[in-house]
Amino acid sequence: MPKIVSDQKTVKQNIAHVLRLMDFLNDRYLAKGRARTRKDFQRFFDIYQMLGTAWEYFSLQCRHGKGFRRVRDGHQACWICGKIRGAPQTEVLLNVKGPKVIGRFVPSPPRSVKTRSSEKAAMVVDDAIRFHGATLKVRVHHSYPSRLFKGKDSIAIAKDRIVELKERGVGISIDDHLVNVEWPGGKRQRGKIYGGLAFELPKKLLAKFPILFSYGPRGQFYGLELFRPSANQSRRRTS
Ligand SMILES: [Zn+2]
Repeated sequence: MPKIVSDQKTVKQNIAHVLRLMDFLNDRYLAKGRARTRKDFQRFFDIYQMLGTAWEYFSLQCRHGKGFRRVRDGHQACWICGKIRGAPQTEVLLNVKGPKVIGRFVPSPPRSVKTRSSEKAAMVVDDAIRFHGATLKVRVHHSYPSRLFKGKDSIAIAKDRIVELKERGVGISIDDHLVNVEWPGGKRQRGKIYGGLAFELPKKLLAKFPILFSYGPRGQFYGLELFRPSANQSRRRTS
């Protein structure tokens, strides 16, 4: 098996090698009447399939640097790996060292695009990854009608791009309008969640969940910090 690296020269060589072997097998043993017995045919067919898997694998490393050529049905195929442009990928190949890249930034759809008929039809990206214990989800969708409650009229779900990160119970979600932080709380009493803007809350309450705001001299908002619940609890214990 050739070495697995991702420099494009080697990728190109690997792909060419595999394709040559596939052609060889096909011409020699798989073309009509070439195999001597049925068993022979099956054996070479199996090898051909394995080579096909290798071809898929190496193609995942191809950056299609030479562009595409026109093939039948108006499709375009990469000059190097022969993959059809825009064809759905079934696997993702990642380097072990260094930052990994999966997909590209897909913005929230423009408002002008009309509502899709269903959630499924509206979905542009719906993906998730578990990364060293943290969970990251990305969802990009057009607007669509949704029936949240049975028997009730459907409501329109607005187009959006939502990114969610979950780490040790803390959930952060970022969408077109909000950055939401969800805390791993104690047992929530059903239906009893209160809300309010910071300046509306009494100081006594604010002291229970310390939030630090960063701002500039002209009142520019720079960010905020929340103390982890564990730090919170130990604080409470010592007081
Ligand atoms: Zn390619």
